[in-house]
Amino acid sequence: MWGTITVSTFDMADIITRIETWLEQQRELYGPFNLPLDQESIPMNAPSESRHPSIEHELANITTLDALRVWCEQDERLKTDLSDTNLVFGVGNPNADLMLIGEAPGEQEDLKGEPFVGKAGQLLTKILEAIHFKREDVYIANILKHRPPNNRDPLPEERIRSLPVLIRQIEIVDPKIILCLGRISAQTLLQTQATMKELRGQFHVWHDRYELAVTYHPAALLRNPNWKRDTWEDVQMVRTRYDALNGQPKGF
Ligand code: URA
Repeated sequence: MWGTITVSTFDMADIITRIETWLEQQRELYGPFNLPLDQESIPMNAPSESRHPSIEHELANITTLDALRVWCEQDERLKTDLSDTNLVFGVGNPNADLMLIGEAPGEQEDLKGEPFVGKAGQLLTKILEAIHFKREDVYIANILKHRPPNNRDPLPEERIRSLPVLIRQIEIVDPKIILCLGRISAQTLLQTQATMKELRGQFHVWHDRYELAVTYHPAALLRNPNWKRDTWEDVQMVRTRYDALNGQPKGF
């Protein structure tokens, strides 16, 4: 005979919290729970250069970060569906050999006009310090240059509009290593739907010239501290490679 299991309200709240945490972890690792043929999915292997030809064309003659920033300040197409946001262009050493790419500014970043200054940013600063970098040593930017509402993930269409700017920004800084923070950043730059598990722990070659590594987004780490160990391994791998490349010419 089946017995009756009594679950107290406290137990139920705990079970729901655990399920929510598990779902959140799966989402960070594998992406949103969309059908594979979701209209909004970026098609795999589509070359990023052909994504937004008119923006790419306009950026073709821009060769400095200052000029690129001015262009961004004047361009409404980089905005999300919020009209009153500030440009969050990028910060750090314009000649950095290590460039970090997040996904999109949040509220604090929007207010300050600087990437990664909120809670996740403070954790990022600590992670950098743990591998003996100051924020000023590296260059930090995002896929999107404007804040999306309610901290939602950047939409594929927003990523397509912003990507040419980021690509130009990377080309101008010309780092030796790119570190993608989180799944959205990695999937957008690598034009793939691969999961975090598949992407992290190795170097990818990006645009035939740059070594690109992937690790967890600091905001995801704040929610899932059990990913700290993997992150530590990723950033140590980056530091080791950075030191090995030091003194070597850029590119392959
Ligand atoms: N998360 C990001 O991806 N970028 C920021 O600038 C801040 C939080």
